[in-house]
Amino acid sequence: MRLRRVEVLGGGPGGLYVARLLALARPGCEVVVHEQGERGTTFGFGVGLAAGTQRKLEAADADTLRDIRAAGRRHDMTMDVGGAVARVHNDNLIGIARTELLEVLGRHAEKAGVRLEYGERRAVADVDAADLDADVVIAADGVGSATREAGDFGAGVEPGRGLFLWCGAAFALDDAVFAPVDTEFGTFVTHAYPYAEDRSTFLVETDEATWRAAGLDGAASDGGTSDTASLAYLSEVFAGHLRGHPLIGNGTRWQRFRTVTCERWSDGRVVLLGDAAHTAHYSIGSGTKLAMEDAIALVEALGAEPDRAAAFARYEAARRPSVERLQELARRSRLWWESFGSRTHLPVERLMVSYMTRAGNVPLDRFAATSPDVVGAALGQYAGVDPQVPDDLTGWVLDRSRRDAPPDALVVDAVVDDPWGPEADAAVAAARDTGAGAFRVVGPPERPAVLTRLDLAERLRTEVGGVVTVVGPPELRDDLAAGLVSGRADVVGFSS
Ligand SMILES: Cc1cc2nc3c(=O)[nH]c(=O)nc-3n(C[C@H](O)[C@H](O)[C@H](O)COP(=O)(O)OP(=O)(O)OC[C@H]3O[C@@H](n4cnc5c(N)ncnc54)[C@H](O)[C@@H]3O)c2cc1C
Repeated sequence: MRLRRVEVLGGGPGGLYVARLLALARPGCEVVVHEQGERGTTFGFGVGLAAGTQRKLEAADADTLRDIRAAGRRHDMTMDVGGAVARVHNDNLIGIARTELLEVLGRHAEKAGVRLEYGERRAVADVDAADLDADVVIAADGVGSATREAGDFGAGVEPGRGLFLWCGAAFALDDAVFAPVDTEFGTFVTHAYPYAEDRSTFLVETDEATWRAAGLDGAASDGGTSDTASLAYLSEVFAGHLRGHPLIGNGTRWQRFRTVTCERWSDGRVVLLGDAAHTAHYSIGSGTKLAMEDAIALVEALGAEPDRAAAFARYEAARRPSVERLQELARRSRLWWESFGSRTHLPVERLMVSYMTRAGNVPLDRFAATSPDVVGAALGQYAGVDPQVPDDLTGWVLDRSRRDAPPDALVVDAVVDDPWGPEADAAVAAARDTGAGAFRVVGPPERPAVLTRLDLAERLRTEVGGVVTVVGPPELRDDLAAGLVSGRADVVGFSS
């Protein structure tokens, strides 16, 4: 379609990248980005970018990717439970400061002819519609998008149960580390990774009961920006990982992750992009990737279709399936992290396997191919034998599962969406009240239901005890085997 002028609301990664790609594809089109913050400042610390993202960015804009890579810091990933460490090598995972990423994207946008206007809030909700003199308005104004709230997008925002604090520290960790620390109030866990020579992100999570018991719900602050009392307390809690440095804040306050969904991504001439349209829990490190991939698809659609409505429809059709797939992975990942404190008794390698298989996205044999030492140790811990990875991994695991599933096991047939939600709480309480010593968890054969059943079974194992069998179809034997090694089930059974 013909484009004379495009306004982009929000100068985050999505907004800056779409502006750059559009200006490159449409030299005659005026592209303006409005960012409410000042140049060189932003929220948060560093973010992680994975290999898949980098491949797509390479194809869309190799120049920008080269500078992003140069500004990023590669790292491996480790899990550290009380000093026991499991390590996963990753060649293509980089951490990068949000300020650096935005600087690179802003510079490249300007080079392509984009006008960047900083320090002024601009949303369709806040300005007179006539002020938005544009054929297309791209709302890339983030998770709290005022434009989304003002428009007709069928939006939903669901807060998570857990709480997180996005902190940093002024030194570079050697690698990313997931580390739980038990306190008298409960468990705090950090997701920490290096993103610059002298900087690391320390994101800290906890559950509501721990947060309240530790007295962190009455946030003190340094004049309305960071929660200094929580930063001081957590600096003590994570002292062992901080090498004498304190945690630092950047507008750092406790939050619940907000999952945003929209039935429609466009309304008239306004189209949503990135977090404004959809969010995916930070634990899968994909929000930046989704925003930048949206940008690629939107520019392609605007170039391919004759009018706005057709272009927006093409953009949404191209992006919605992968966005929804990642949102579902992110939902499972969020639930796993929100219940993290219940599985820190696992040996660290089994915990790493549980982590890698938490969303059903990484098959156990693929993980074993890249990390045979971790998976070998986990198999050894599971089966009580010397660590090794057998050729037929799934068959080997299933052969070693306790096959003497108790015949008198109580059947648990609870179809729940959320294995840690109120319905699942009731199912676990009912199972406990029976006093049974064995449970057989059954339900529909579809994969999402089986994965959820494994999570419910894990709760029965840890909260009620006894021998827990999970039943699923033979074609999901890989998932069932991963469930055994991860401590989600004692026995698996096959439905016909
Ligand atoms: C704790 C945490 C950790 C994360 N870690 C990762 C990670 O490791 N990897 C990853 O890929 N993603 C991560 N994410 C997600 C990632 O930060 C977002 O998905 C990504 O920033 C989305 O980009 P965006 O451009 O859509 O929105 P944003 O980055 O939120 O940018 C929106 C911009 O719009 C501006 N704005 C808002 N309203 C207005 C207005 N009215 N007028 C003008 N400007 C406005 C804001 O100031 C902001 O600069 C994390 C998120 C969180 C919360």
